[in-house]
This record gives sequence, structure tokens and C-alpha cells, in this order.
Amino acid sequence: MQEVFIKLQALQTILSKKYDVQDEVKEIPKTLSTKIELLNRGKKNYLEKNEKLELIKNDIKSIRIRLDDAERERENYEKQMDLITTQREYEALDKEIKDATEKEQQLRKTILHKENIQEELVSQIEDQEDLMTLQEEEVKVEQEKMETILSEKNKELDILKEQEDEIVPDIDGDVLFKFERIIKNKSGVGIVPIHDTVCTGCHMTLPAQFVNDVRKGKDFMFCPYCSRILYFEDIEEEVIGSAVGADDIEEGALADLVDLDDFDL
Ligand SMILES: [Zn+2]
Repeated sequence: MQEVFIKLQALQTILSKKYDVQDEVKEIPKTLSTKIELLNRGKKNYLEKNEKLELIKNDIKSIRIRLDDAERERENYEKQMDLITTQREYEALDKEIKDATEKEQQLRKTILHKENIQEELVSQIEDQEDLMTLQEEEVKVEQEKMETILSEKNKELDILKEQEDEIVPDIDGDVLFKFERIIKNKSGVGIVPIHDTVCTGCHMTLPAQFVNDVRKGKDFMFCPYCSRILYFEDIEEEVIGSAVGADDIEEGALADLVDLDDFDL
């Protein structure tokens, strides 16, 4: 059992690294897709502005035709002035000329207004073109960057997969399935020791009988609170073991307190 626990710990390191790399791989295309989205939005805007420009150009063309007509109309009325004989005829014709002139002026004003819009559109389209060139360049750079990182990450994953494949065949399928899920859900830690009667994964105190079963180490035991695989670790041995190695304890002082032979050091 001890051997399996060691293998599981090794597998834990490999798997948690693998999941981290997989998460990173998922994040990598996000910057690129944001940039592509921006570029596409820009392209749409560019097309819309060009359509508007076409419309306004046609508009100006047709108003110019109407303006030509209005001019001709006024000139005709002016020619008729030479032919009139009465005051009433004069007044009527004079009114026609005034109306035609007014119409002409109105049309000229409209053309001027539309020409301003056209000019503004042309300048916006030019700006948009510059921006798109920049954005296209950014997308290209990001794409290349992404491909480089992805191929690095995939190499890392290949190595981890090889390491994983070395351990996995020695582990029971059901245990492996549970273990992988725990590691995914419990931020990379799927196997932990019990200290005294406490699960070091979730710090919950476990029932004495349960702890005994873990201590026996006959079967896989899963923490009822955090689902991690448990194994027993005798902390007292460890504490005393490290205390013996410490320089600040005088020889003899420790011997007065405990008989070292009582411990399996
Ligand atoms: Zn636990």
C-alpha cells in the first residue's frame, strides 16, 4: 500500500501540472480572439461607412441635377421678362423668378451640407483604414506568439503524458478515476496524510475507527469530508526525529527526558 501511495503522490504532481498547463492552453487563444473581434468590428464599421459614402455621393449627384433644372427654369423666366407687356404679367413672372431663385439657394445649401458630411466620412474611413492596418498587424503578431506558446505547452503536455503513462498502469482504474477528479476539484491535492485524527486536506477530525482503518492501510480510504485519499503519517516520530537532529539540544538533556531506544528511529 505504501508503494501505491508514493506512486499516487508522484502522479498527483504530474496531474496537477497537467491540469495547470491545460488551463493555460485554454486561456491562450482569448487575447487573440479579443483582437480578432476588434478587427472584425472595425471592418464592419468600415463597410458601413463606405455604404453611407456611396449613398451620399449619389444623393449629391441627384441634387445637382435638380439644381441644374432649377437654374434653367429661372433663366427661362428671366428671358420671358423681355416679352411681358402688363404690370400683372410682370408681377407674376417676378414671383416665379424669386421662387426659382429661392429653390436654387435651398438646393445649394443642401449640397453644401451633404458635402460636409461626405468629407467627414472620407476622413473617418481613412482613419479606420489606418486602424485596421494596425489591428491586422497585431493579430498577426498575436497569432505567431500563440502558436509558439502552444507548441511549447504541447511539448510540456507530451512529457507529462509520458510520465503519467509510466505510473497509471499500476493503479486501479476506479481509484484513478476518483483521484483525477479530486485533483481537478481540490486545486491539485488528491492524497493527504492524517495527522493524529485530523485530515490535513480539510482539517476535519475523523472518527477514531475510521482513523484506525486508515492506519491499517489495507484499502483505499477517502476522507468523508473532502474526498481525498488518506494515508497515515506518524507525526510524533517526525517531530522527535527532527528534534534529535537539532543542534541546540544538548546531548544528555534529551536522554534525561526520553529513552531513544523506545523509538524506531
Ligand atoms: Zn479531508
